[in-house]
Order: sequence, then C-alpha cells, then structure tokens
Amino acid sequence: MLIGGFQKLTLLDYPEKTAAMVFTRGCTFLCPFCHNPELIFADQDTEHVTEEEVLDYLKEKKKMIDGLVITGGEPTIHKDLGDFIKKVRALGLFVKLDTNGTSPETVERFLNEKLVDYFAMDLKHTWEKYNLIGRSKKEGMIDDVRKTFAMIQSSGIPHEFRTTVFPGCHSEEDFFTMAGYLLPGETYFLQNIRYGKTLEKNLDQSKKLDVTEIVRGLKEKFPELAIEER
Ligand code: SF4
Repeated sequence: MLIGGFQKLTLLDYPEKTAAMVFTRGCTFLCPFCHNPELIFADQDTEHVTEEEVLDYLKEKKKMIDGLVITGGEPTIHKDLGDFIKKVRALGLFVKLDTNGTSPETVERFLNEKLVDYFAMDLKHTWEKYNLIGRSKKEGMIDDVRKTFAMIQSSGIPHEFRTTVFPGCHSEEDFFTMAGYLLPGETYFLQNIRYGKTLEKNLDQSKKLDVTEIVRGLKEKFPELAIEER
C-alpha cells in the first residue's frame, strides 16, 4: 500500500473517537477542488511512509487512541488494504474508511469480512451530474459509486455521507436531490469548499452558496436525517 501521509492524532475525523490517520496515494477521481492533489497520482514523489512505521506507532500508542482513519486519495485502489486493516484490527483498534465509492467489490469484501467499523463516503453530486466532479474516464464508474452507496446504506455499519459544496458546479437544488437519496436516520455532512491548494488552480470562485442556509432548509425538509455543516 502506498502511504503519502500520516497524522498521528485527530480528534475530528472519527466521530466520538480519538484516532491516527493515514493518507493513501492514488485516486480514481479528479475532483477539481481536491485539496490533496499531491495524493491523486500514485507515482507522484510525495512524502512516503511505510506500513511498518504506521503499525509501530499504533502499537506504541494503542492505549491512547481508539482507532485509525484510512483516507486518501482513494484507499480502495490498494490491493493489500484489507491485509493492512487486519493488522490494525489485531491491535484492538477501530478502523474508519473514507471512500469515494468507486470500488464496490472492495467494500463488499470488507463488509463480508467485517473489517470496517465506520464508513465515510463522498456524495459528489446528483447521480446525473456526478462526473462533472469525479471526471472519471472509466465506463460504469458512476454505477459503481451507486452500488457502493446502496451497500453502505444497507450494511448496518455506522456511516456518513458528505458532499463538498462547490458553488462553481452545484446548485442549491442539487443538495435537496442528494439528501433525497438518504434513508431515515442517516447522517449527511455538507462541507465548505477550501479554496487555496486545489487540483485545478483556477477554480471558478465567482459563484456563492450559503451553506448554513442550505443546511437549514435541508433540516426542515428532511427532519428524519442528521444533517450538519462542516
Ligand atoms: S477529493 Fe476527489 S480527487 Fe481528491 S482524493 Fe477525494 S475523490 Fe480523489
């Protein structure tokens, strides 16, 4: 597994748990607002951390942290991700997996083997407009995302969906459409876009959306969901 970054402690990325976080390299999408562009291409020369370094640290600190967040890039592109997770779990730690949903086979396997304690999945856009953000050239990629989305929804494993609000590409109405995909009791985060370091250097920043106002409207229309701004 290619690891491009390691954060020894996060109090924000695993709900109600203290965790360390690894950033894997390589991704199946090319989101224009990606704020980890150095992690998109697996062959880029970025910080390199070995699995052993991560596992040694976790072994040493396992009494002080609850779990590990695995994020990217897109972690599921790594064939040995499951083996790595098993080693983390063997230390008695919880595992949260962040995914863009493009590998339903991997998520299905992890569900069958009960390897993941919490899923966070991106919901990039409405299904019809998904590839305006993902920009994948692979045929069937959005069907794969939909499969993963449905699998996580019916998994019984704690999970959240989240959308980065990109006014250059989303309309207010799109968030109401996306929230409509969720089931009662599910959690949906709207994340404010972070301009600055992004994959596309000249993002359209002229359009604005009031995320707080959108969240207020969503809560009113979907009281059965847990919707928050992040
Ligand atoms: S924001 Fe998009 S391109 Fe960046 S890591 Fe996530 S899925 Fe990949």
